Amino acid sequence: MRKKFQPIIVLVLLLATTFSAFQPVFAQGPFDMLCPECHGTGKISTTSTCSICHGSGQITVWEECVTCDGSGKIAPKITLKRMNGLGTLVWLDWVARVEGVFHNEEDKGTYGVATSEVHTVTTTYYHSSPRTYFPPHEDVTMTIDTPEIELLTDWTYTIYLSSKDDITCPSCDGSGGRSVLATCSECNGSGRVTTTQTCLVCNGRGYVTNQTAVNLAIFGVTVVIIGSVLGITVFALSRRKRQEPVR
Ligand SMILES: [Zn+2]
Ligand SMILES: [Zn+2]
Ligand SMILES: [Zn+2]
Repeated sequence: MRKKFQPIIVLVLLLATTFSAFQPVFAQGPFDMLCPECHGTGKISTTSTCSICHGSGQITVWEECVTCDGSGKIAPKITLKRMNGLGTLVWLDWVARVEGVFHNEEDKGTYGVATSEVHTVTTTYYHSSPRTYFPPHEDVTMTIDTPEIELLTDWTYTIYLSSKDDITCPSCDGSGGRSVLATCSECNGSGRVTTTQTCLVCNGRGYVTNQTAVNLAIFGVTVVIIGSVLGITVFALSRRKRQEPVR
């Protein structure tokens, strides 16, 4: 009776051994194991020095000057303090003369041209001054004659700066702005960037085929088959032996 059960016991033992070998890798598939490259995440993260800020976390940015909007130049402020219109004699000829007192409010001198506008009932006459220097914080009197006007003609007048040279912006000294340090937006100031790519070892699955498990399975199945064949043979032989004395 004992010998009859031997092949069955061997078979059960072999099956148990084979299956217990697969036990730790049953999580995904019987022949899968966690990818050793990405540890099951399917992704590979690489941290490297930020190429934008070269690891400093800061970048130099150009901050435009608000005074000159980045141009480096501004139109100077030259005000008209007062003006006057009078008739005067030039080489015994009477002329209509307009005077204007201009004041350069800036710390820098500049050049400008004044224009007078003289109105009669019928006509307006325009005359301009030569290009004139306006020193900083000084009064400059501009005098413009209108020879077309006859004595006893009624006339009104005005005078203004028709053109003036831009001056170097006092806020940025002509540079148009300044370089300031700002936090690098590429790495948020850390100086390092992390790039995540699909793991090429497992193609993003997170698991790879466990070759050891496959080999074990093949080995186990082989052992089971050989064991079964052997067991059945032994069983058959033992039965034949027992039957012999009867013949
Ligand atoms: Zn950076
Ligand atoms: Zn400026
Ligand atoms: Zn992987």
